[in-house]
Amino acid sequence: MILKNALNENNERISIVLDESSGIIKRIVKGEISSIGDKVLDLGGRFVSPGLVDSHAHIDSNFLLDVCKEVETPKFTEALKALIECKENLTEDEIYKLAKKSIDHYITHGTLFVRTHVMIDGKKWKERVRSLVRLREEFKGKVYIQLIGFVQSYDYFDKEQEERVIKSIEMGLDGIGGQPHLQPSREDGIYMVKSLFDIAEQFNIILDFHADYADEPDLKFSEVIVSETIRRKLYGKVSLSHLIAMHSYHDDYAHRLMRWIKSADINVIVSPITELQGSGAHENYPKRRGIPRVRELLEEGINVSLGHDDIQNHLNPIGDGDLLKASFALMIGDYMFFTRYFKDIHRMMTYNGAKTLRITDYGLEEGKKANIVIFNTKSLRDTLIEIPSNRLVISGGKILYNSLESITI
Ligand SMILES: [Zn+2]
Repeated sequence: MILKNALNENNERISIVLDESSGIIKRIVKGEISSIGDKVLDLGGRFVSPGLVDSHAHIDSNFLLDVCKEVETPKFTEALKALIECKENLTEDEIYKLAKKSIDHYITHGTLFVRTHVMIDGKKWKERVRSLVRLREEFKGKVYIQLIGFVQSYDYFDKEQEERVIKSIEMGLDGIGGQPHLQPSREDGIYMVKSLFDIAEQFNIILDFHADYADEPDLKFSEVIVSETIRRKLYGKVSLSHLIAMHSYHDDYAHRLMRWIKSADINVIVSPITELQGSGAHENYPKRRGIPRVRELLEEGINVSLGHDDIQNHLNPIGDGDLLKASFALMIGDYMFFTRYFKDIHRMMTYNGAKTLRITDYGLEEGKKANIVIFNTKSLRDTLIEIPSNRLVISGGKILYNSLESITI
């Protein structure tokens, strides 16, 4: 199959030759291409991107508002309480069906790679892990799902919790993490971080923490995570999600921390929708934005990738899983609405995300797996501004979804 007349992020008109049997990109040529005997899709100058990478999701928490009542609070701990109560009452069948609905949504948006945190504390943890492992298998070859065991800190983190983490890894997780700041004290949080590092090293798996996910400027678990990463030489295998507190750090401390994040080759994952939703909720006006310093992190050379985070649950009642909406929130939230940032933003939901998820077979390049999304726009700029809902999604060289009206399959 040939995709002709597409426009890439550098505004170049290209044609892409796909090998449908192997599912790889055979050739990319600038301009038109002769196409005798091949199936040709004329994309009419539409914007083409590698399949999107969502670096932060909670598939086991999405669409809870389908089955539980909305709770009107932007305060994280209150919303989380309602969310957990809802999750505890789900059957395994409901967990599976709601999770599958999420993946169907990701596909329509062109997201073909998702890192999701599955809650492994509280009740029903086995049902959640089983459902997600099952879906990962069912969508293999179509959507890549990476599972991070998530210690929500619903329970006190002790030896029993450590054993549960190990059991959940044995059920098939790809990595582990959690939110140490929700433990009762800093000492407990540090114990949890070190213990999760010990376990991750033992099983040779990756780590992704919900790090400093609150507004207090004194919240500093990221420095402990950075220190453990460097001491154990786990370069490239660790991610810091959210880092909301960085928004409130003293400038000098923030930049010292960034330097160490860079030396540790730690990925930073920003999920601007939920970060904007939760930050400032305990304050009177003026309210802070709570997004980590994305432009400064990028300038430091740190790999920053993008997550959409929750979909239609108590923490984010209005999410739909579309990374373009997350990027729109980021453009406003961190003043990235100028042309010079558009390519960076696109990279955050593509190549940077692939680096975070440690996917090597990725990109709009010859020889790479043909995971591609085409938007109903004529440039990257228009794509970010218009957030077009109609898309053509190709996974492993085959059309997985198409809502572009003028292109029939
Ligand atoms: Zn999260």
